Amino acid sequence: MTASASFTGIGASPGVSVGHAFVLDGRKVRYPKVKLRPEEVEPEILRLKTAIDLSDRQLQELKGKLAHDEVGADHALILEAHRMMLHDPMLLVETQRLVKNDAINAEWALRRVAKRLRHQFDNLDDEYFRERRSDVDFVADRVVRNLLGQAVDEEVQLPSDAVVVAHDISPADAAMLVKTGRVAAFVTDLGGQTSHTAIVARARETPAVLGCGRVSEQVRTGDLLAVDGTRGLVLVNPTDSQLALFRETMRRHLASEASALKTAELEARTLDGASLALWGNMEFPEEVPSLLAHGAQGIGLYRTEFLFLNRPDAPTEEEHYQSYKQVLTAMGNRPVTIRTLDLGGDKVPGKKQEREVNPAMGLRAIRYCLQHREMFRVQLRALLRASVHGNLRVMFPLISGLSELREARSELEHCRSELGRAGLPVGKRFPIGVMVETPSAAWIADRLAQEADFFSIGTNDLIQYSLAIDRQNRDVAYLYRPLHLAVLRALESIVTAAKGARIPVSMCGEMAGDPTFTLVLVALGFDSLSMTAGQLAPVKRIIRETNQADAKALLTEAMTFSTAEEIERFIRAEMEKRFGGD
Ligand code: PEP
Ligand code: MG
Repeated sequence: MTASASFTGIGASPGVSVGHAFVLDGRKVRYPKVKLRPEEVEPEILRLKTAIDLSDRQLQELKGKLAHDEVGADHALILEAHRMMLHDPMLLVETQRLVKNDAINAEWALRRVAKRLRHQFDNLDDEYFRERRSDVDFVADRVVRNLLGQAVDEEVQLPSDAVVVAHDISPADAAMLVKTGRVAAFVTDLGGQTSHTAIVARARETPAVLGCGRVSEQVRTGDLLAVDGTRGLVLVNPTDSQLALFRETMRRHLASEASALKTAELEARTLDGASLALWGNMEFPEEVPSLLAHGAQGIGLYRTEFLFLNRPDAPTEEEHYQSYKQVLTAMGNRPVTIRTLDLGGDKVPGKKQEREVNPAMGLRAIRYCLQHREMFRVQLRALLRASVHGNLRVMFPLISGLSELREARSELEHCRSELGRAGLPVGKRFPIGVMVETPSAAWIADRLAQEADFFSIGTNDLIQYSLAIDRQNRDVAYLYRPLHLAVLRALESIVTAAKGARIPVSMCGEMAGDPTFTLVLVALGFDSLSMTAGQLAPVKRIIRETNQADAKALLTEAMTFSTAEEIERFIRAEMEKRFGGD
């Protein structure tokens, strides 16, 4: 048994669990290096092809096994992406070329190609796409295991309440493990918020602490582990008093989850009758069941650039369509707000880009789409086709002026007529909205409101650009203040513009899901707020215990202060008085 110890990592899926460690074999796959004689080259290429075919069949088989699983469709997409990687010319052709030209064995060649592919992902600034490096490894490791005749996809017998500990977990393993219903938590050395284990864990509401460094080397199967996926903390063989504290946190977490689920059906209406719709933010279709269970009345933000998961190339129209159809169908007639691709700048997967000096202010989001029309049209056609399946709303990110909105709209209309001419079914017209997340859009919100069907405020970017602080830069994170007077004034004027034009206004940035700001947002008069599943209940509780008139008076007073610190202090003190500091 390991002595008591603790590890901190990234709290990638919230919740608290206690269970016994089950350490997955984390030994790295070894890639032997052999120089070939000329007559060995052709048989080696055949050996490579056979291993790739076998890997392909295994992934297909796994997909089949997951097909009836509740969230299997999404895992199937991930496995399909791995299959595509297997057939990527870069992998296959390049590996063959190296075997031939350099007379080296398939494992060695594959290792060199994988390294190059990984390097392409390394060069991307965005954490999400950087995480895709591990997908290259999962695929290459599978092929090498097959080349070496090692066991792949072994069924493991998990004890119940197992805390799965591993160096890293492939999507295939993660999906198979959760399917057993015996996983209490995940703990890994690698990974982060956007790795597959995090996605699978969140969808299954299983606590996960990822990126813990060398936890898998230090924990033994059978060790008692206490995992706090909210704070990113893992205790190994905790003392009795630590365990008691942990169990208390766990009890509180379960109680608050239970009450959250109980309030799922309740309306978010203030004591004096102002009603707000609470919606969910999502990146993957697999998050829909959890959002619905937590009471999301719609989807306020679907970040579609996450469709580029695991792949160096762009998704096809059919792939876009299938994802949108899945979400729209699952949501029934509830509104589903799909944001067009927020790619570009540092987020262009698979392509070696000239690095922009200042990517946040560069060619991203709607600017990127308008310069890459064919890629944009692929998405627009899929959206138009999918619109027959539910209550679709589409919004454009990072609009900085009216011309962009007009151009994007006209592109959509062009696609609509094109589909019409091709005789493909397209739904009725759906609302087209603007994400207000640049200061220029905030300044001209009254004009934008004349031509947009709704607004959704992206505060993550609006704050970044308004206060001139890079949201990725830790050194200036202290300046990231949602209650800065400049932000409050911007929000006020955007909401006023929307009301003036009688269009609905929502907020989908992080600010919407933080209960500290709920009174302010109720006062401003938002029609809807969009957030992650776990944030819905706490925000709803505040709304239900608030008078909008009181919140308005509070905001008026808050805006008499001049610094963000003063406003925050004031709001926190008032929250404390009303809700005991929640
Ligand atoms: C935002 O900017 O607030 C937003 C919701 O978009 P993203 O975080 O994806 O940029
Ligand atoms: Mg944004």
